[in-house]
Amino acid sequence: MNIILLGPPGAGKGTQARRLVEEHGMVQLSTGDMLRAAKTSGTEMGNKVAEVMARGDLVTDDIVIGLISEQLDGEAGQHGLIFDGFPRTLAQADALGKLLDEKGKTLDSVVEMKVDDDALVDRISGRFTCSKCGEVYHDTTKPTAKEGVCDVCGSTEFTRRADDNPDSVRVRLMAYYRSTAPLIGYYHAKGKLVSVDGLGEIDTVAADIKQGLGL
Ligand code: AMP
Repeated sequence: MNIILLGPPGAGKGTQARRLVEEHGMVQLSTGDMLRAAKTSGTEMGNKVAEVMARGDLVTDDIVIGLISEQLDGEAGQHGLIFDGFPRTLAQADALGKLLDEKGKTLDSVVEMKVDDDALVDRISGRFTCSKCGEVYHDTTKPTAKEGVCDVCGSTEFTRRADDNPDSVRVRLMAYYRSTAPLIGYYHAKGKLVSVDGLGEIDTVAADIKQGLGL
């Protein structure tokens, strides 16, 4: 099964993608993660995207389409895929459709995660991630059980994203409403859209997603 997780920044796409990976052996393709990796690699592309990402703007379609195309050709392409943070524009959605067609794959469902803006700003501002295993935490809603120690892998190193600050969050939300929200209608028209309330507890949202996908 190949699915897209669609929703504004902070809706919980990454958290839910990880659940699907753990419980259903799917592979998460997060263009945000790929771009952050490129950023730290010091390559020309990495340097080019770093500034755009810090501001909260979208990087160009050709860069992210190229990243996804590479993944589909590699090992990830052998598994059920979760597209997380991609596509984010209509051009990316069209390109994904073409890539999947070329590779004889289908897109099964697009899960729209609905969350209101006030909740998003709170969620994003308190977010931090284990540097070793990638588990996502939140200062108030999901702290580590033991302060400073990852519940999953025991690491004591955590990171906060450079773009999880109020100015970048505002730009990211604008980019979402301007460029990405039209994809809701696009996939609805194709009969692919499943909408879930993204505001509940992580387990409740996960159960709703599974139900929506028939898993
Ligand atoms: P994310 O981790 O999905 O929140 O993405 C972090 C940042 O990476 C975004 O604010 C954009 O600057 C960039 N980015 C990630 N995915 C895309 C995409 N599909 N199209 C354009 N920019 C993207």
